[in-house]
Amino acid sequence: MILETNNLTMKFGGLTALSNVSLKINKGEIRGLIGPNGSGKTTFLNVVTGFYKATSGSVNFNGADISKELPHTIANKGLVRTFQNINLFPHMTALENVLTGSFCRSKDNFLLSILPRKTQEEKRMTAEAENILLFVGLEKEIHSKACNLPYGKQRLLEIARALASNPEILLLDEPVAGMNEQESLSVAELLQKLQKTGLTILLIEHHMRFVMSVCDGLTVLNSGAVIAKGTPEEIQNNDEVIAVYLGKRHKKC
Ligand code: ADP
Ligand code: MG
Repeated sequence: MILETNNLTMKFGGLTALSNVSLKINKGEIRGLIGPNGSGKTTFLNVVTGFYKATSGSVNFNGADISKELPHTIANKGLVRTFQNINLFPHMTALENVLTGSFCRSKDNFLLSILPRKTQEEKRMTAEAENILLFVGLEKEIHSKACNLPYGKQRLLEIARALASNPEILLLDEPVAGMNEQESLSVAELLQKLQKTGLTILLIEHHMRFVMSVCDGLTVLNSGAVIAKGTPEEIQNNDEVIAVYLGKRHKKC
């Protein structure tokens, strides 16, 4: 097991956003975390990565309690997230954005890295960042400014930047939101390719077909509580899930 939460509870004043959430993620799996809007998915990610401190409960990463650690310490340990909304440096190139991820774990100064004279370490990191961009399929966009990339490619760039921090587990908050089917398919392929390299992934997502096609296991939240866990097939056939989540979505369509 790589990540385990025990009875994680998060209260905002009178609102309980997470209620005794216990979740286990095995090394190498793609685990989906689904649930209706406002069910606590992003809050879960914020607590696990140290952006919020839980009201109670614990988070264990590789057997160590990380509940009291700061976000950058947690990221350095190998738990790396993306955000629900695009969070790039818009006027930096794709390469420079990825380098900001690499420099999280370097002793070198990021600003020095964009100067023409480079140290050996900076050259190594630049080559690594280029390889990551190649891996995610952005090799043609290396020197394009982030703000000039189409939306789907900006989201891929966010994943590339997260990969540059060398994660053991990647936590993605709605990576295909707003993408068309073709773009979603390329992200699904990318996640499967990443899984083959040994990476563990926690995927928060609304797009049901996408989630069902890439996840090994799913956990379903409703009003901050876990209401179901299982394989995609089990979840698709779970009456409570159908009632609170799939049912609602179907009605909306
Ligand atoms: P999801 O990601 O599943 O849509 P969220 O985790 O964003 O849900 O939100 C869960 C609940 O917690 C919502 O009712 C939301 O309004 C509330 N919430 C989230 N973050 C905060 C915050 N910083 N302060 C107060 N309430 C919050
Ligand atoms: Mg959210």
